[in-house]
Amino acid sequence: MPIFNADLHCHSTVSDGTLTPEVLAARAKANGVELWALTDHDEVSGQQRAIDAARALALPYLTGTEISVSFFELTVHIVGLGFDHTHPALLQGLERTRSGRSERALEMAQQLRLVGIPGVFEGALKYVSNPELISRAHFARYLVEAGVCKDVQEVFRKYLTDGKPGFVPHRWASLGDAVRWIVEAGGVAVIAHPARYNHPNATQEYALFSEFKAHGGQAVEVLTGSHSSAEAAQYAEMALEFGLAASRGSDFHSPGESHCDLGALPTLDARLQPVWDLLAHRVH
Ligand code: AMP
Ligand code: MN
Ligand code: MN
Ligand code: MN
Repeated sequence: MPIFNADLHCHSTVSDGTLTPEVLAARAKANGVELWALTDHDEVSGQQRAIDAARALALPYLTGTEISVSFFELTVHIVGLGFDHTHPALLQGLERTRSGRSERALEMAQQLRLVGIPGVFEGALKYVSNPELISRAHFARYLVEAGVCKDVQEVFRKYLTDGKPGFVPHRWASLGDAVRWIVEAGGVAVIAHPARYNHPNATQEYALFSEFKAHGGQAVEVLTGSHSSAEAAQYAEMALEFGLAASRGSDFHSPGESHCDLGALPTLDARLQPVWDLLAHRVH
């Protein structure tokens, strides 16, 4: 069976990617993507640009976003696909989720100053296109530029993560709110990169999946840039066990920085229901 090359997770300059929605659309098309979604963090202001750019390339498109959620002490990410990107409750919820990022960034920079790394707020801002969306990825790019670390992976090993300098815990959206904003706007909610969360025990991971489902969530990302093939196999089983559809998305942020280019993922396990089967009526 020929693979259907859906890529339903990536980031533009509207959040913490380095390419514009238009350049990403062209890259997706050139890489053979057959169904694309731009999923900027907590933000949909790039959606009309992505819709227009995809249409000009005859590239089928689903609207997208990736919502930051606080679940117990962890941050988890919930991707939304195929929603109405003008839906007022979704826009309001995302705006509320974005607020507080600037204060958090100032506190992150203050912590780094205390360990002898000055000027990080101003430095990170040079990489920010959307003033409402300053992210740890922008900090990481500046710390590489400043020669503090050799690449962004090293930054996240030494700084900006729990227990390391520059980590500021933050209260994001609740799981129920994030799923509801997506579903009420006509979309499908997806648990992003499930292998990336450091759940303290298996019970908490089961709680994430079962509460997500109870709130109306319908899918889980099985194939994504940061999953090993063993992790993909593990979450294929979880999708079957929980009766969730499966998504596929590179989580591409930047050439040379991302694990996986747009359209470069392996094939979904044939036993899984692809999330795009639920969204045929929402394709632009
Ligand atoms: P924030 O939303 O500000 O907490 O930033 C989260 C973003 O930082 C993620 O979406 C990634 O772009 C980036 N990030 C987090 N951890 C890592 C990591 N280990 N390696 C590379 N990028 C990371
Ligand atoms: Mn990111
Ligand atoms: Mn994410
Ligand atoms: Mn992402």
